[in-house]
This record gives sequence, C-alpha cells and structure tokens, in this order.
Amino acid sequence: MNTQSPLSADRMHAVTPETRDLVDLVLDYSRRRILSTDTPLDKPLPEHELRRLAGQTVSEGGMGAERALAVFEHVLAPACITTDHPQYLSFIPTAPTKAATAFDLVVSASAVYGGSWLEGSGAVYAENQVLSFLAAEFGLPATAGGVFVQGGTLGNLSALVAARDHARADGRSPSDRWVIVCSAEAHSSVASAARVMDVDVVPVSPGESGVLTGEAVRPALEEYGDAVFAVVATGGSTNFGIVDDIASIAALKDDFPFWLHVDGAYGLAGMLSPLARPRFAGVEHADSVIVDPHKWLFAPFDACALIYRDPESGRRAHTQHAEYLDTLTDAAEWSPSDYAIHLTRRARGLPFWFSLASHGAAAYRDAVTASLRLAERIATEIERRDGFRLVRKPQLSVVVFERDGWTREDYALWSARLLDEQRAFVTPSSHAGRPNTRFAILNPLTTFEDLVAILDTM
Ligand SMILES: *Cc1c(COP(=O)(O)O)cnc(C)c1O
Repeated sequence: MNTQSPLSADRMHAVTPETRDLVDLVLDYSRRRILSTDTPLDKPLPEHELRRLAGQTVSEGGMGAERALAVFEHVLAPACITTDHPQYLSFIPTAPTKAATAFDLVVSASAVYGGSWLEGSGAVYAENQVLSFLAAEFGLPATAGGVFVQGGTLGNLSALVAARDHARADGRSPSDRWVIVCSAEAHSSVASAARVMDVDVVPVSPGESGVLTGEAVRPALEEYGDAVFAVVATGGSTNFGIVDDIASIAALKDDFPFWLHVDGAYGLAGMLSPLARPRFAGVEHADSVIVDPHKWLFAPFDACALIYRDPESGRRAHTQHAEYLDTLTDAAEWSPSDYAIHLTRRARGLPFWFSLASHGAAAYRDAVTASLRLAERIATEIERRDGFRLVRKPQLSVVVFERDGWTREDYALWSARLLDEQRAFVTPSSHAGRPNTRFAILNPLTTFEDLVAILDTM
C-alpha cells in the first residue's frame, strides 16, 4: 500500500493541485500533437521491444501521470502509425480537421451521454442536424434519421438486422435461409454481418468494370425470391472506390420487395462534390445508408452515420427493453440508442458536428473535390509512365496500379522499405489474383509531388 498518498477514495476525482497539474500536462500534450506539422509516420514495434522500452506499466501503486504520459509520448505513440499523415495512403486513411480533433476532447470533457434524449438532448439535437444534412445530401426524405455508430461494420450489421425485421414484419419468410444479395466486391463486413445473423450472402459478379448493375442482380432475385431480404449496393468500394449502379438496382424494387442498403462507408462522402455526385444516382431510393465520417468526412475515429429512410423500422428492430429502461423507451423522444446494436454511447457525432458547423459544408465540398482531382491527376501520371499500369480508372479517390513485372514479394519489400525509411505508408494489394498497390487519397495535405516521389521509388 502506498502510504504517502491520501487514502480517500475521491483522490482521483477531486480537484486538487495534483489533478490540475495532470490535466494541464495532458492538455498541453494534446495541444502540441494537434498543432504539430511534423509528427513522423512512425511504425509498429514488436511486442518484446515494447516490453523492453515501456516495461510493466500497470501496478498497485501507479507510476504517476508525468511518467505515464512520457511513456505514451516517447514509446507508445511512436509505435502507432500516424494515420492522419499526408503520406498515409493505405486502406482508407483518416484526416480529421483540427476543429473535429480538438472538439473530440470536449466531448470527453463534458461527459455527455449520447444514448437518450432524456440525458443528452442537446448533443442528440446537434448529431441529428448532421444526420439530416447528410440525408438531404443523399436525397433521402426529411423524415430520414438514424444514429452515429462506432463504424461501418456495425452500421451495416444494424441496417441489415432492421432489414430482416422489416421483411418478417411484412409476413415474408424464406423457404430455406434468408439471403443478402451484394456485389462480389462488397466489403467484408457484409459477409461478417451475415455470419452474425446466420443468413447467407449471394455474391453477384459485377463483371470487368466492378460496377454492380440491376441487370446482374435480377437473376439472383428471381432465383431466391422471398428469401432475399436485402440487397447491398456499394457506394464506393474500399479497394477501388467503385460505385455500383445504384439507380438500376433500386429500379428492381418495383418488382421485388427487398430492402436496399447502400454501403457508402468510404465513398458516399463523394456526393458532397459535384464531380462525383452523379455517380450516386439512385441512392435517394435507399432504405438505409451508411457513411463513415472517420473516413472521407474528416472526423476522428470512430464514427459511422447510419441513416434509415424510415427510422421507425430501425427503432422497432433495435430498441432494448428492460424495467430500468422503461422510462426511456416509453417516451416519444428520439433516443439514439434505439437505432442500432448498442446501448451506452458516446456522442461520437459531435466532433464532426462542430467542424461542419464551424467551417460550413462548402469547405467540405472543396476538400472532397480536391481528393477527386488529385486522384485523377496521379492516375493520368501513372498511365503516362513507362512500366506502370493503371488497373482501373479511378471513380473516386482510390488509385490502383501495377509496376510491370513486380511480384507480391517485390511489392511487400518495397512497401516495408518505404515505411522503414518513413517516406510513406503504401501497402500491397491485389486484384483477381494479380498483385498491385494503391493510393487511397483523402488527406487534403497530400500533394501531387508527394505521390510522384513515391512512384519514383518503384
Ligand atoms: C471501411 C468500410 C467498411 C467498414 O467500416 P469500419 O468503419 O471500418 O467498420 C464497410 N464498407 C466499406 C465500403 C468500407 O470502405
């Protein structure tokens, strides 16, 4: 037992000179990090190395805030890749605005509860304004609504659960198993949702272009009939940024009773730019959509906007009932907890709200347009270069390309060297069995020259 410290149970919570110092320490660090312009890319360390450098950090007595923060700053943080670095071009990067990042601290500082109107009406009001803004962008009716969930995976699952409930409420049932129809290039989280729900996925080949069409989907609907409770159209595939032909898929709703879910986790933000907006025609017919602000809407992790055309179908599917919750669920007020698979929730839409409210939508349109332009420009450069091959023309801001003659091993060694030398984080990928690599571009600080310099290393 540490006999030097006061033993009162409130010592971690009381406002004392020590806690003031601790808060200053953490806020000072946060301020430096948010405003830093030269945070290196950094890279992962093996566990034995972290053990050697950080040692055992958790103990009965504690190491004190100063030391703990030093361990974070000098050992742990450098072992985390800087995902908002302009040369982070892998997977789907993140690039939160300074406003959104700074306000993330406020969400914690205010201990806001985002689950119910009763407890968090102000926060819920602001989040709902953002959801309404997005719904209007996507052409959904003014009555559309939903909730910010942790990520696209949970958003897709929650939407698909609501879709199946809707089919059941409609009196439909499969003769064998429930089916989700989607593109063979749909995100892995759709298959993951199907596993959780114990339903089947029928993947439909989108053909050479990667764009799933209604024509390709129709035979699956004819074959599986009433068992198909949902069709998932992808609004910007993760690997290529390809947008399915949502309008032709939506048109099938005239003949078949499926729920149309649009997975726009990465790409739907593209609708904010007039350059990409036409590609998403038909999304206004969706029964549910998702888009991740932590991707191309410049918010920090972790936030996915899940929006239902008819929010009531989401509420019916997801509201939890318990004696201690009756006071919430009996109320007619809008409680975000009721619209997805979760209960306690951080008001995770607020960092995005603050940034959007501060800067205005036009700034977002410009930022999305800039990514689209840069993707097009570097794609043209790749096409022009000897020894390089563009795998597909980019529709959004992902550029996939090959270096002639390179094997999987070549890409892997090159990628590791780039990270090792702290030049860039560009990982190997593949398509139809052929190795390639890709630039996922959404950080407004990424420049054409940065990308050309990376090509020059190949
Ligand atoms: C990223 C992504 C997801 C998964 O979203 P998470 O936030 O990572 O859970 C789903 N679908 C698409 C198209 C994505 O790009």
